[in-house]
Amino acid sequence: MEWFHCNKCFLRTGSKFAVSSCGHICCEACIKPQCVICGTSCSYLPITDKMKIQERVFFMDPMKLFQSRLEHITQSQIADFQRTQMQRATAYFKHKSVELEKRLKEVTQQSYQIAELKRENADLKSRNMELKQEMAELKKPLSQRRGSPGQFQTNSVQRISLPVAVASP
Ligand SMILES: [Zn+2]
Ligand SMILES: [Zn+2]
Repeated sequence: MEWFHCNKCFLRTGSKFAVSSCGHICCEACIKPQCVICGTSCSYLPITDKMKIQERVFFMDPMKLFQSRLEHITQSQIADFQRTQMQRATAYFKHKSVELEKRLKEVTQQSYQIAELKRENADLKSRNMELKQEMAELKKPLSQRRGSPGQFQTNSVQRISLPVAVASP
């Protein structure tokens, strides 16, 4: 009797299970006075081998019912119940896989963005280094600057800046 699952958390093993009067299966942790699936006040029947035969049949292989003498419970009722349970699980896992796919896309997108940001950061860092070098260069006296032309040396500047009237006789 292990084909079913908790209709709330989709647990399959490792817990006791019960079926509610509203037809939902819950694990021990999900059993509440009001059904966690449909919200109706319900009673629970523990799913065990000690269930009455007319209760237990719903968890049995419908094919085996050929051998049973339960006229009031039809084979299709049982098959319907089990099919609904299966559909529930299928829908749940389908939804899960869609969610996971979406999440994977997000993560891929994020790692792409992180790579972009890292590249930008590296660019900014090297630009920052360049600016620091430029600043250091600007702080040096004119004469020590890389490639400063000779005509800009102090004495020549002074000579040039003398008023023309004073320089001429
Ligand atoms: Zn559960
Ligand atoms: Zn319910």
